[in-house]
Amino acid sequence: MFIVMLGAPGSGKGTVAKLLKDILGVEHISTGDMFRETLAQGTELGKELESYMSRGALVPDEIVIRIIEEKLNNLNSDNVVLDGFPRTVEQAKFLSKMLAGRGEKIDLVLHLDLPDEEIIYRTVKRRICVNKGCEAIYNLEFTPPKVEGKCDKCGSDLMQRKDDNAETITTRLETYHVNADPIIKYFEQVNLLKSVKLSIYKNITRQDVENWIKEWKNK
Ligand code: AMP
Repeated sequence: MFIVMLGAPGSGKGTVAKLLKDILGVEHISTGDMFRETLAQGTELGKELESYMSRGALVPDEIVIRIIEEKLNNLNSDNVVLDGFPRTVEQAKFLSKMLAGRGEKIDLVLHLDLPDEEIIYRTVKRRICVNKGCEAIYNLEFTPPKVEGKCDKCGSDLMQRKDDNAETITTRLETYHVNADPIIKYFEQVNLLKSVKLSIYKNITRQDVENWIKEWKNK
């Protein structure tokens, strides 16, 4: 099973992808997480990625495609949820073509639809567990940790992503809108899109995700 998550930065893709992993046993691949890991290694590639990510710009397609192609080729699973890829029509076309070449296909494109004002609010309040094995996601307003600055699940410190500030998120949102409409149309045309309307005033729960899967399967 191949699931693609679409949605603005901070719309909850990571949260939903983690729940999908739990519910369906799919492998969670986040290009943002992969890039942040590369960046932390301080390699030339890491520095190049940082030059785009720090200003909220997209990493060029050729670099992203090279990295994701290698990742997918080395994966021992056909059950995947992709979070943060594709982000351009070029990337979407590459993915469809690559999967077709392996006799596979995208099964579902889940689009999280949230108004921009809510996105900005949600993103600046986002905190993430530093523990790589956990990476639980909190929102200081809606899902705060029980102890300030500490993860409820593993007790590790919580951190704020460098690019989760009001200035960068505005650029990230602009970039998202330029690219998202054509991708959404592309997946709509091939009848793969399921859009869900969200509000920050209601947390995404496991039950929500189970319901979306049920609706999709009964379609
Ligand atoms: P994310 O964690 O998904 O919000 O991604 C963080 C940053 O990584 C984005 O703002 C981009 O700079 C970069 N990035 C992640 N995925 C992609 C992609 N598929 N294409 C281009 N840039 C990406």
